[in-house]
Amino acid sequence: MNEFDTKADIEAEHFRTAIIATLGPASWDEPVLEKLIAAGANIFRLNFSHGDESSHERTLATLRSVAERMDVHVGVLGDLPGPKIRLTEIPGDGFMLEPGLRVEFHRDCATGESDPIFRLGCTLDRIVDDVQIGHRLLIDDGLIRLVATDRGEGVLGCTVEVGGRISSHKGVNLPDTDLDIEMPTERDRRFASWAIEHQLDWVAMSFVRSADDVRALDAHMRSCSGGSSRPIPIIAKMEVPRAIEHAVSIVEEVDAVMVARGDLGVEMDLALVPSIQKHLLAVTRDARVPCIVATQMLQTMIDSPVPTRAEASDVANAIFDGADAVMLSGETAVGAWPVEAVSTMHRISCISESTMRSLSISTGGDLEPMAERAPDPLDPLIDATLTAALAADARCIVVPSSSGIHARHLSRNEFHLPVLAMADDARVVRRMLLLRGVTPVLVSAMPSAEELVDHATDAVRGQGWAEPGEVIVIMMRDEHVGTGVRMIVHRMEDEAGH
Ligand code: PGA
Ligand code: MN
Repeated sequence: MNEFDTKADIEAEHFRTAIIATLGPASWDEPVLEKLIAAGANIFRLNFSHGDESSHERTLATLRSVAERMDVHVGVLGDLPGPKIRLTEIPGDGFMLEPGLRVEFHRDCATGESDPIFRLGCTLDRIVDDVQIGHRLLIDDGLIRLVATDRGEGVLGCTVEVGGRISSHKGVNLPDTDLDIEMPTERDRRFASWAIEHQLDWVAMSFVRSADDVRALDAHMRSCSGGSSRPIPIIAKMEVPRAIEHAVSIVEEVDAVMVARGDLGVEMDLALVPSIQKHLLAVTRDARVPCIVATQMLQTMIDSPVPTRAEASDVANAIFDGADAVMLSGETAVGAWPVEAVSTMHRISCISESTMRSLSISTGGDLEPMAERAPDPLDPLIDATLTAALAADARCIVVPSSSGIHARHLSRNEFHLPVLAMADDARVVRRMLLLRGVTPVLVSAMPSAEELVDHATDAVRGQGWAEPGEVIVIMMRDEHVGTGVRMIVHRMEDEAGH
């Protein structure tokens, strides 16, 4: 067989990198959802920046009924908008800002309300007070650049440096301004409660600046649920310079991280984005926290049934660097080819994972650990399990993981050993969908020590991962030895026990 035989690779691989598809008008109907799942999407993002509670409610209900009918687990991520600043309504199809033109941001002014050429309004009134002279104001993904030049009563004067057409609701980024906005915002709080009420599997926090922002969301969610623990795992979206500065402490506070390259590429020099991506993949890998790479991965597939070569490489390189998940945004939310985008991403992941295995490329293992941290008591046990599995040429590792912690520690392992994780709680199963290299299975009850081998071998047979005579390694937490585990190297028998 050719080393790069596509068909064989796709058939041979267990699907291991999660694919997150953002839902929107292009994908929220039943027939498309069904195709997206069949094409390999296993986590869906509800983007609370658009739509209201009732539209998300409808999308969620459709998704859940499709998943139930197809008998698959899908995870749902609710993405909180954060303090995203936007222009207010602009009449017609907008107007041109020519370079050199002077424009004014007015407090309480709808954009273009009285004098469409010169007056701008945005969703954050305080922009006129907080932006300092000399600071940049970037509109529409950084395509249009203004610089603040003067200030009057309730007015901020700016000069257009790079021009372009502006229209309603375009995003405004202030990369030089430290806005003292309370996080989570009022809107974030509302959607976070909605997410708890609707039992979503993750909430993502946009424009996180520090671990304190995450703690504030955590406190809000605890107060909503009345519980002593965090009701839903939190994902920090890394998209502003302060978050990158505080990456290590943020990672300690969250359950997963997203490299949100869209806003990051506006807030910071675009040339830095690939390095920051590698850095965040290393920091999260080191901390055993899952990491998502997001935005513009297959951007041209919004209009075209095929991606560019550069985009195909981008997806593959994120996987080579150890990403747990790759995400589609506009491609599946508003694009003309949502199903093709997912299946393209799926093919690229399967083939890239297979290449990593055949060429022994480790999942970012060549990246240096980033932070001094106290050794985790599980580390030596995980290392021992992986070493045993490697020495025994095991097909996979099976781990009952009632909370998902053991599975998380085994994920992204540099030997590409697939992990089959059993949990008796469907919520834990869905959360484990995000873990690279982990296939979660729902069991009716966690196996006892006596049942362990039987249940593990059944689960492996169910997946078709090992033939009689092949070896699997089973790891199980064992209360009798403190934080210890029981590890079994087991040779598969056929069902008759031979
Ligand atoms: P967004 O987040 O799509 O919600 O803006 C992702 C990003 O900024 O990359
Ligand atoms: Mn963003």
